[in-house]
Amino acid sequence: ATPAQARAIALEEEHAAHNYHPLPVVVASGDGAWVTDIDGRRYLDCLAAYSAVNFGHSNPVLLDAARAQLDRITLTSRAFHNDRLGPFVTELAALAGKDMVLPMNTGAEAVESGIKVARAWGYRVKGVAAERANIIVMAGNFHGRTTTIISFSDDQDARADFGPYTPGFRMVPYGDAAALEAAIDGDTVAVLVEPIQGEAGILVPPPGYLPAVREITARHDVLLIADEIQSGLGRTGTTFACDLVGVVPDLYLLGKALGGGIVPVSAVVGDRDVLGVIQPGQHGSTFGGNPLAAAVGLAVVRMLATGEYQGRARRLGEAMHAGLGQLVGHGVVGVRGAGLWAGIDIDPSLATGREVCELLVRRGLLAKDTHGSTIRLAPPLVVSERDLDWAVEQVRDVLGEL
Ligand code: PLP
Repeated sequence: ATPAQARAIALEEEHAAHNYHPLPVVVASGDGAWVTDIDGRRYLDCLAAYSAVNFGHSNPVLLDAARAQLDRITLTSRAFHNDRLGPFVTELAALAGKDMVLPMNTGAEAVESGIKVARAWGYRVKGVAAERANIIVMAGNFHGRTTTIISFSDDQDARADFGPYTPGFRMVPYGDAAALEAAIDGDTVAVLVEPIQGEAGILVPPPGYLPAVREITARHDVLLIADEIQSGLGRTGTTFACDLVGVVPDLYLLGKALGGGIVPVSAVVGDRDVLGVIQPGQHGSTFGGNPLAAAVGLAVVRMLATGEYQGRARRLGEAMHAGLGQLVGHGVVGVRGAGLWAGIDIDPSLATGREVCELLVRRGLLAKDTHGSTIRLAPPLVVSERDLDWAVEQVRDVLGEL
Protein backbone atom coordinates (compact mmCIF):
# COMPACT_ATOMS: atom_id res chain seq x y z
CA ALA A 1 0.00 0.00 0.00
CA THR A 2 1.13 3.58 -0.66
CA PRO A 3 1.64 5.88 2.38
CA ALA A 4 -1.77 7.52 1.78
CA GLN A 5 -3.48 4.12 1.58
CA ALA A 6 -1.65 2.86 4.66
CA ARG A 7 -2.83 5.91 6.63
CA ALA A 8 -6.43 5.48 5.48
CA ILE A 9 -6.39 1.78 6.34
CA ALA A 10 -4.84 2.40 9.77
CA LEU A 11 -7.53 4.98 10.59
CA GLU A 12 -10.30 2.56 9.71
CA GLU A 13 -8.66 -0.31 11.59
CA GLU A 14 -8.27 1.81 14.71
CA HIS A 15 -11.90 2.83 15.10
CA ALA A 16 -14.05 0.50 13.00
CA ALA A 17 -14.97 -2.87 14.50
CA HIS A 18 -12.97 -5.65 12.87
CA ASN A 19 -15.91 -7.59 11.47
CA TYR A 20 -14.38 -7.59 7.95
CA HIS A 21 -10.92 -8.30 6.53
CA PRO A 22 -10.87 -5.97 3.49
CA LEU A 23 -8.38 -6.27 0.66
CA PRO A 24 -5.74 -3.52 0.81
CA VAL A 25 -7.33 -0.94 -1.48
CA VAL A 26 -8.96 2.36 -0.47
CA VAL A 27 -11.62 3.30 -3.00
CA ALA A 28 -12.56 6.93 -3.48
CA SER A 29 -14.81 6.97 -6.55
CA GLY A 30 -16.46 4.75 -9.14
CA ASP A 31 -17.90 4.88 -12.63
CA GLY A 32 -19.57 1.94 -14.35
CA ALA A 33 -17.55 -1.21 -13.76
CA TRP A 34 -14.46 0.70 -12.59
CA VAL A 35 -13.43 2.27 -9.29
CA THR A 36 -10.53 4.61 -8.50
CA ASP A 37 -8.49 4.57 -5.31
CA ILE A 38 -7.29 7.57 -3.30
CA ASP A 39 -4.03 7.62 -5.28
CA GLY A 40 -5.84 7.72 -8.62
CA ARG A 41 -5.26 4.04 -9.54
CA ARG A 42 -8.13 2.33 -11.35
CA TYR A 43 -9.52 -1.15 -10.72
CA LEU A 44 -12.11 -3.25 -12.50
CA ASP A 45 -14.70 -4.08 -9.83
CA CYS A 46 -15.50 -7.77 -10.18
CA LEU A 47 -17.40 -7.98 -6.90
CA ALA A 48 -19.92 -5.17 -7.50
CA ALA A 49 -20.57 -4.92 -3.75
CA TYR A 50 -21.75 -8.53 -3.59
CA SER A 51 -24.08 -7.81 -6.55
CA ALA A 52 -25.61 -4.66 -5.04
CA VAL A 53 -24.01 -2.63 -7.86
CA ASN A 54 -25.42 -4.70 -10.74
CA PHE A 55 -26.16 -1.52 -12.72
CA GLY A 56 -22.69 -0.06 -12.25
CA HIS A 57 -21.22 2.65 -10.08
CA SER A 58 -22.71 6.13 -10.55
CA ASN A 59 -25.33 4.82 -12.95
CA PRO A 60 -26.68 8.07 -14.46
CA VAL A 61 -30.31 6.92 -14.58
CA LEU A 62 -30.28 5.84 -10.96
CA LEU A 63 -28.40 8.94 -9.81
CA ASP A 64 -30.95 11.12 -11.60
CA ALA A 65 -33.80 9.31 -9.85
CA ALA A 66 -32.08 9.72 -6.48
CA ARG A 67 -31.19 13.39 -7.03
CA ALA A 68 -34.69 14.29 -8.15
CA GLN A 69 -36.11 12.64 -5.05
CA LEU A 70 -33.52 14.21 -2.71
CA ASP A 71 -34.88 17.61 -3.68
CA ARG A 72 -38.49 16.63 -2.93
CA ILE A 73 -38.70 14.44 0.19
CA THR A 74 -36.66 11.52 1.53
CA LEU A 75 -38.48 10.15 4.57
CA THR A 76 -42.04 10.22 5.79
CA SER A 77 -42.25 6.93 7.72
CA ARG A 78 -45.17 4.66 6.99
CA ALA A 79 -47.28 6.61 9.48
CA PHE A 80 -48.28 8.55 6.34
CA HIS A 81 -48.57 7.66 2.68
CA ASN A 82 -45.95 8.88 0.24
CA ASP A 83 -46.34 9.32 -3.51
CA ARG A 84 -43.37 7.08 -4.45
CA LEU A 85 -44.23 3.86 -2.62
CA GLY A 86 -47.35 3.05 -4.65
CA PRO A 87 -45.63 3.14 -8.06
CA PHE A 88 -42.62 1.21 -6.71
CA VAL A 89 -44.57 -1.68 -5.21
CA THR A 90 -46.95 -1.83 -8.18
CA GLU A 91 -44.16 -2.16 -10.73
CA LEU A 92 -42.01 -4.47 -8.58
CA ALA A 93 -44.97 -6.79 -8.02
CA ALA A 94 -45.61 -6.79 -11.79
CA LEU A 95 -41.95 -7.55 -12.54
CA ALA A 96 -42.17 -10.56 -10.22
CA GLY A 97 -45.63 -11.62 -11.41
CA LYS A 98 -47.00 -11.29 -7.85
CA ASP A 99 -49.65 -9.20 -6.07
CA MET A 100 -47.85 -7.49 -3.21
CA VAL A 101 -44.59 -6.18 -1.82
CA LEU A 102 -43.45 -5.80 1.78
CA PRO A 103 -40.69 -3.14 1.62
CA MET A 104 -37.73 -3.28 4.01
CA ASN A 105 -34.11 -2.09 3.88
CA THR A 106 -31.41 -4.74 4.20
CA GLY A 107 -31.31 -8.29 2.92
CA ALA A 108 -31.31 -9.76 6.41
CA GLU A 109 -34.49 -7.80 7.16
CA ALA A 110 -36.16 -9.24 4.08
CA VAL A 111 -35.22 -12.74 5.27
CA GLU A 112 -36.50 -12.04 8.79
CA SER A 113 -39.69 -10.63 7.29
CA GLY A 114 -40.15 -13.68 5.07
CA ILE A 115 -39.77 -15.93 8.12
CA LYS A 116 -42.40 -13.95 10.04
CA VAL A 117 -44.79 -14.01 7.08
CA ALA A 118 -44.34 -17.77 6.67
CA ARG A 119 -44.95 -18.45 10.36
CA ALA A 120 -48.03 -16.22 10.46
CA TRP A 121 -49.32 -17.90 7.29
CA GLY A 122 -48.69 -21.30 8.90
CA TYR A 123 -50.75 -20.48 12.01
CA ARG A 124 -53.49 -18.43 10.37
CA VAL A 125 -53.98 -20.15 7.02
CA LYS A 126 -52.44 -23.62 7.14
CA GLY A 127 -53.66 -24.23 10.69
CA VAL A 128 -50.41 -25.24 12.39
CA ALA A 129 -50.75 -25.40 16.19
CA ALA A 130 -49.35 -22.41 18.13
CA GLU A 131 -45.53 -22.30 18.46
CA ARG A 132 -45.08 -25.48 16.40
CA ALA A 133 -44.07 -24.09 12.99
CA ASN A 134 -40.82 -25.28 11.43
CA ILE A 135 -38.95 -23.98 8.40
CA ILE A 136 -36.55 -26.10 6.36
CA VAL A 137 -33.21 -24.52 5.41
CA MET A 138 -30.19 -25.74 3.46
CA ALA A 139 -26.71 -26.76 4.58
CA GLY A 140 -24.19 -24.15 3.48
CA ASN A 141 -26.82 -21.39 3.42
CA PHE A 142 -26.09 -17.70 3.78
CA HIS A 143 -29.07 -15.46 4.51
CA GLY A 144 -27.54 -12.67 6.61
CA ARG A 145 -26.28 -11.85 10.08
CA THR A 146 -29.15 -11.38 12.53
CA THR A 147 -29.44 -13.65 15.54
CA THR A 148 -32.31 -15.68 14.08
CA ILE A 149 -30.60 -16.07 10.71
CA ILE A 150 -27.26 -17.18 12.14
CA SER A 151 -29.22 -19.63 14.30
CA PHE A 152 -29.80 -21.72 11.16
CA SER A 153 -26.35 -21.29 9.64
CA ASP A 154 -23.81 -24.13 9.68
CA ASP A 155 -20.87 -21.73 9.35
CA GLN A 156 -19.11 -21.76 12.74
CA ASP A 157 -17.59 -18.29 12.20
CA ALA A 158 -21.05 -16.90 11.64
CA ARG A 159 -22.69 -18.50 14.69
CA ALA A 160 -20.17 -19.39 17.42
CA ASP A 161 -20.68 -17.42 20.66
CA PHE A 162 -23.87 -15.75 19.41
CA GLY A 163 -26.35 -18.15 21.01
CA PRO A 164 -28.81 -18.97 22.44
CA TYR A 165 -30.19 -19.75 19.02
CA THR A 166 -33.70 -19.32 17.62
CA PRO A 167 -35.51 -22.68 17.37
CA GLY A 168 -37.84 -23.77 14.57
CA PHE A 169 -35.45 -24.58 11.72
CA ARG A 170 -34.37 -27.88 10.19
CA MET A 171 -31.34 -28.24 7.95
CA VAL A 172 -31.10 -30.59 4.97
CA PRO A 173 -28.35 -31.02 2.34
CA TYR A 174 -28.52 -28.54 -0.55
CA GLY A 175 -29.44 -30.14 -3.85
CA ASP A 176 -31.11 -33.23 -2.32
CA ALA A 177 -34.88 -33.12 -2.93
CA ALA A 178 -35.49 -36.52 -1.28
CA ALA A 179 -33.86 -35.37 1.97
CA LEU A 180 -35.97 -32.23 1.82
CA GLU A 181 -39.21 -34.18 1.44
CA ALA A 182 -38.24 -36.51 4.29
CA ALA A 183 -37.77 -33.50 6.60
CA ILE A 184 -41.25 -32.10 5.95
CA ASP A 185 -43.97 -32.78 8.52
CA GLY A 186 -47.41 -31.33 9.22
CA ASP A 187 -45.88 -28.34 11.03
CA THR A 188 -43.59 -27.33 8.17
CA VAL A 189 -44.60 -23.89 6.94
CA ALA A 190 -41.81 -23.08 4.49
CA VAL A 191 -38.65 -24.10 2.69
CA LEU A 192 -36.07 -21.32 2.49
CA VAL A 193 -33.55 -21.72 -0.33
CA GLU A 194 -31.02 -19.76 -2.35
CA PRO A 195 -31.65 -20.83 -5.98
CA ILE A 196 -27.88 -20.59 -6.40
CA GLN A 197 -25.88 -20.49 -3.15
CA GLY A 198 -23.80 -17.32 -3.33
CA GLU A 199 -21.58 -17.10 -0.26
CA ALA A 200 -21.12 -20.88 -0.30
CA GLY A 201 -19.17 -20.44 -3.55
CA ILE A 202 -21.74 -19.86 -6.33
CA LEU A 203 -23.07 -23.40 -5.97
CA VAL A 204 -25.54 -24.26 -8.73
CA PRO A 205 -27.83 -27.17 -7.77
CA PRO A 206 -28.63 -29.96 -10.28
CA PRO A 207 -31.13 -28.69 -12.91
CA GLY A 208 -34.03 -30.81 -11.65
CA TYR A 209 -33.60 -29.78 -8.02
CA LEU A 210 -35.60 -26.55 -7.76
CA PRO A 211 -38.47 -27.88 -9.90
CA ALA A 212 -38.59 -30.92 -7.58
CA VAL A 213 -38.58 -28.64 -4.51
CA ARG A 214 -41.42 -26.64 -6.06
CA GLU A 215 -43.47 -29.78 -6.68
CA ILE A 216 -42.82 -31.19 -3.18
CA THR A 217 -43.61 -27.93 -1.37
CA ALA A 218 -46.83 -27.46 -3.34
CA ARG A 219 -47.92 -31.04 -2.62
CA HIS A 220 -47.31 -30.64 1.14
CA ASP A 221 -48.90 -27.16 1.40
CA VAL A 222 -45.53 -25.62 2.30
CA LEU A 223 -44.37 -22.18 1.10
CA LEU A 224 -41.33 -22.00 -1.14
CA ILE A 225 -39.26 -18.94 -0.24
CA ALA A 226 -36.50 -18.08 -2.74
CA ASP A 227 -33.74 -15.89 -1.35
CA GLU A 228 -32.81 -14.01 -4.53
CA ILE A 229 -31.03 -11.24 -2.64
CA GLN A 230 -27.72 -12.04 -4.35
CA SER A 231 -28.86 -14.20 -7.29
CA GLY A 232 -31.74 -12.03 -8.45
CA LEU A 233 -32.27 -8.85 -10.48
CA GLY A 234 -30.36 -9.73 -13.62
CA ARG A 235 -27.19 -11.31 -12.28
CA THR A 236 -27.78 -14.77 -13.75
CA GLY A 237 -29.01 -13.60 -17.16
CA THR A 238 -32.65 -13.71 -16.06
CA THR A 239 -34.65 -11.48 -13.72
CA PHE A 240 -34.55 -14.19 -11.05
CA ALA A 241 -32.29 -17.23 -10.84
CA CYS A 242 -35.51 -19.27 -10.38
CA ASP A 243 -36.39 -18.30 -13.98
CA LEU A 244 -33.44 -20.36 -15.22
CA VAL A 245 -35.34 -23.52 -14.30
CA GLY A 246 -38.89 -22.22 -14.72
CA VAL A 247 -39.69 -22.18 -11.01
CA VAL A 248 -42.04 -19.66 -9.38
CA PRO A 249 -41.67 -19.53 -5.58
CA ASP A 250 -44.40 -18.31 -3.23
CA LEU A 251 -42.17 -15.56 -1.87
CA TYR A 252 -39.18 -13.81 -3.42
CA LEU A 253 -36.71 -12.18 -1.04
CA LEU A 254 -34.95 -9.30 -2.79
CA GLY A 255 -32.30 -6.81 -1.72
CA LYS A 256 -28.87 -5.61 -2.75
CA ALA A 257 -29.31 -4.43 -6.39
CA LEU A 258 -32.88 -3.32 -5.63
CA GLY A 259 -31.34 -0.21 -4.08
CA GLY A 260 -29.17 0.44 -7.13
CA GLY A 261 -26.07 0.60 -4.93
CA ILE A 262 -27.36 3.92 -3.61
CA VAL A 263 -29.64 3.14 -0.69
CA PRO A 264 -30.49 -0.11 1.12
CA VAL A 265 -33.76 -1.41 -0.33
CA SER A 266 -35.11 -4.91 0.23
CA ALA A 267 -38.47 -6.56 -0.19
CA VAL A 268 -40.57 -9.64 0.27
CA VAL A 269 -42.71 -10.17 -2.84
CA GLY A 270 -45.64 -12.56 -2.95
CA ASP A 271 -49.33 -13.06 -3.57
CA ARG A 272 -52.13 -11.67 -1.43
CA ASP A 273 -53.07 -15.05 0.05
CA VAL A 274 -49.65 -15.17 1.73
CA LEU A 275 -48.37 -11.59 2.22
CA GLY A 276 -51.88 -10.48 3.08
CA VAL A 277 -51.61 -12.22 6.46
CA ILE A 278 -49.58 -9.29 7.84
CA GLN A 279 -51.87 -6.71 9.44
CA PRO A 280 -51.18 -3.18 10.78
CA GLY A 281 -48.93 -3.21 13.83
CA GLN A 282 -47.56 -6.70 13.22
CA HIS A 283 -44.45 -5.72 11.26
CA GLY A 284 -42.67 -2.56 10.17
CA SER A 285 -39.58 -0.47 9.71
CA THR A 286 -38.99 3.27 10.10
CA PHE A 287 -37.09 3.43 6.82
CA GLY A 288 -38.85 0.62 4.93
CA GLY A 289 -40.66 1.98 1.87
CA ASN A 290 -39.25 5.51 2.27
CA PRO A 291 -39.66 7.83 -0.73
CA LEU A 292 -35.97 7.96 -1.61
CA ALA A 293 -35.67 4.16 -1.51
CA ALA A 294 -38.90 3.79 -3.48
CA ALA A 295 -37.77 6.29 -6.13
CA VAL A 296 -34.46 4.46 -6.65
CA GLY A 297 -36.13 1.05 -6.45
CA LEU A 298 -38.66 2.12 -9.06
CA ALA A 299 -35.88 3.20 -11.41
CA VAL A 300 -34.19 -0.19 -10.87
CA VAL A 301 -37.41 -2.07 -11.63
CA ARG A 302 -37.92 -0.04 -14.82
CA MET A 303 -34.39 -0.84 -15.97
CA LEU A 304 -35.04 -4.54 -15.39
CA ALA A 305 -38.41 -4.38 -17.12
CA THR A 306 -36.60 -3.64 -20.41
CA GLY A 307 -34.76 -6.98 -20.23
CA GLU A 308 -31.59 -5.26 -21.40
CA TYR A 309 -29.51 -6.06 -18.32
CA GLN A 310 -30.61 -9.67 -18.19
CA GLY A 311 -29.59 -9.98 -21.86
CA ARG A 312 -26.19 -8.45 -21.20
CA ALA A 313 -25.60 -10.78 -18.26
CA ARG A 314 -26.54 -13.78 -20.39
CA ARG A 315 -24.42 -12.80 -23.39
CA LEU A 316 -21.36 -11.58 -21.52
CA GLY A 317 -21.70 -14.40 -19.02
CA GLU A 318 -21.32 -16.97 -21.79
CA ALA A 319 -18.10 -15.29 -22.91
CA MET A 320 -16.81 -15.09 -19.34
CA HIS A 321 -17.57 -18.74 -18.58
CA ALA A 322 -15.98 -19.84 -21.86
CA GLY A 323 -12.81 -17.92 -20.94
CA LEU A 324 -12.73 -19.21 -17.38
CA GLY A 325 -13.41 -22.78 -18.52
CA GLN A 326 -10.10 -22.73 -20.36
CA LEU A 327 -8.29 -22.19 -17.03
CA VAL A 328 -9.45 -25.55 -15.68
CA GLY A 329 -6.34 -27.69 -15.41
CA HIS A 330 -4.17 -24.55 -15.31
CA GLY A 331 -4.39 -23.71 -11.63
CA VAL A 332 -8.19 -23.93 -11.57
CA VAL A 333 -9.95 -27.13 -10.52
CA GLY A 334 -13.52 -26.04 -11.29
CA VAL A 335 -15.70 -23.15 -12.43
CA ARG A 336 -19.42 -22.78 -11.71
CA GLY A 337 -22.09 -20.18 -12.07
CA ALA A 338 -24.66 -18.59 -14.34
CA GLY A 339 -24.72 -15.33 -16.25
CA LEU A 340 -22.17 -12.83 -14.97
CA TRP A 341 -21.57 -14.80 -11.81
CA ALA A 342 -18.72 -17.27 -11.46
CA GLY A 343 -17.17 -19.24 -8.61
CA ILE A 344 -13.64 -20.28 -9.49
CA ASP A 345 -12.03 -23.04 -7.41
CA ILE A 346 -8.28 -22.45 -7.27
CA ASP A 347 -6.08 -25.53 -6.85
CA PRO A 348 -5.65 -25.36 -3.05
CA SER A 349 -2.09 -26.67 -3.32
CA LEU A 350 -1.17 -23.48 -5.22
CA ALA A 351 -2.74 -20.68 -3.18
CA THR A 352 -5.68 -19.62 -1.07
CA GLY A 353 -8.45 -17.56 -2.61
CA ARG A 354 -7.30 -14.64 -0.50
CA GLU A 355 -3.76 -14.83 -1.90
CA VAL A 356 -5.08 -14.89 -5.46
CA CYS A 357 -7.31 -11.88 -4.74
CA GLU A 358 -4.36 -9.94 -3.29
CA LEU A 359 -2.35 -10.62 -6.46
CA LEU A 360 -5.33 -9.53 -8.58
CA VAL A 361 -5.60 -6.24 -6.66
CA ARG A 362 -2.02 -5.46 -7.65
CA ARG A 363 -3.04 -5.95 -11.28
CA GLY A 364 -6.05 -3.67 -10.92
CA LEU A 365 -8.80 -6.24 -10.53
CA LEU A 366 -11.06 -6.43 -7.47
CA ALA A 367 -12.45 -9.88 -6.71
CA LYS A 368 -13.35 -11.57 -3.44
CA ASP A 369 -12.57 -14.99 -2.08
CA THR A 370 -15.20 -17.09 -0.39
CA HIS A 371 -14.64 -20.26 1.61
CA GLY A 372 -10.94 -21.04 1.31
CA SER A 373 -9.83 -21.49 -2.25
CA THR A 374 -12.84 -20.17 -4.20
CA ILE A 375 -12.87 -16.71 -5.75
CA ARG A 376 -15.94 -15.15 -7.26
CA LEU A 377 -16.32 -12.89 -10.27
CA ALA A 378 -19.50 -10.83 -10.32
CA PRO A 379 -18.81 -7.62 -12.22
CA PRO A 380 -21.48 -4.96 -12.72
CA LEU A 381 -23.73 -5.98 -15.61
CA VAL A 382 -22.62 -2.83 -17.48
CA VAL A 383 -19.08 -4.22 -17.84
CA SER A 384 -17.75 -4.24 -21.41
CA GLU A 385 -16.73 -7.41 -23.21
CA ARG A 386 -13.21 -6.07 -23.56
CA ASP A 387 -12.91 -5.42 -19.83
CA LEU A 388 -14.23 -8.91 -19.11
CA ASP A 389 -11.65 -10.48 -21.43
CA TRP A 390 -9.01 -8.46 -19.63
CA ALA A 391 -10.30 -9.73 -16.25
CA VAL A 392 -10.06 -13.37 -17.36
CA GLU A 393 -6.51 -12.68 -18.62
CA GLN A 394 -5.53 -11.28 -15.23
CA VAL A 395 -6.81 -14.40 -13.48
CA ARG A 396 -4.92 -16.57 -15.98
CA ASP A 397 -1.69 -14.59 -15.57
CA VAL A 398 -1.89 -14.59 -11.77
CA LEU A 399 -2.34 -18.37 -11.75
CA GLY A 400 0.62 -18.67 -14.14
CA GLU A 401 2.78 -16.82 -11.60
CA LEU A 402 2.01 -19.18 -8.71
N1 PLP B 1 -29.30 -13.41 1.52
C1 PLP B 1 -28.31 -13.67 0.64
C2 PLP B 1 -28.46 -14.78 -0.34
C3 PLP B 1 -27.15 -12.89 0.66
O1 PLP B 1 -26.16 -13.16 -0.19
C4 PLP B 1 -27.05 -11.84 1.60
C5 PLP B 1 -25.82 -10.99 1.67
O2 PLP B 1 -24.75 -11.37 1.21
C6 PLP B 1 -28.10 -11.61 2.49
C7 PLP B 1 -29.22 -12.42 2.41
C8 PLP B 1 -28.03 -10.54 3.53
O3 PLP B 1 -28.13 -9.26 2.99
P1 PLP B 1 -27.68 -7.97 3.85
O4 PLP B 1 -26.19 -8.03 3.98
O5 PLP B 1 -28.14 -6.79 3.04
O6 PLP B 1 -28.37 -8.06 5.17
